[in-house]
Amino acid sequence: MAKFTIKLGDITKEKVDAIVNAANTTLLGGGGVDGAIHRVAGPALDVACARLHGCPTGEARITPGFELPAHYVIHTPGPIWQGGNHNEAILLANSYRNSLELAIKNGCQTIAFPSISTGVYAYPLEEAAKVAVKTIKTVLEQYPQLEVTMVCFDLQTYQAYLGAVKRK
Ligand code: ADP
Repeated sequence: MAKFTIKLGDITKEKVDAIVNAANTTLLGGGGVDGAIHRVAGPALDVACARLHGCPTGEARITPGFELPAHYVIHTPGPIWQGGNHNEAILLANSYRNSLELAIKNGCQTIAFPSISTGVYAYPLEEAAKVAVKTIKTVLEQYPQLEVTMVCFDLQTYQAYLGAVKRK
């Protein structure tokens, strides 16, 4: 049976096969969780990301984790919230699904996600949690070997994801 866990914490400390980075389309680093991941991984991650020449919203790219405890980083730019009528839900689901598929393709079993798009990209938290939980659960039905963790950086985020799991 696949495992799906919601926890409070800092994703840069996760000892998993892959952590997912809520990146931007340049992949050149930013603030929030992206900045934290790049700081801990070290300058080699900046070099590896620069070689990828960006990534469209909803797609995913993989690099080593370098100085991180995680083996890989999967970079996915989530959608910027623009009111809800700009394919935000589809693009957010794409980010989760494409990240999981790329992780699986690279032999990962343990994968940790941050709350994609709910920081600077301003996606409403409850809505984003619903999309994330539904998408992750659908993929997990097909891949019973996976262990996926949502790593929430603050209590409000943690409660939103717990709520989304319960309501399902
Ligand atoms: P986005 O641009 O996709 O909105 P942000 O990095 O601004 O990405 O925010 C996404 C989420 O990541 C927010 O809930 C933010 O609190 C959270 N976050 C920031 N730092 C960390 C971290 N070290 N570990 C896990 N989550 C983090």
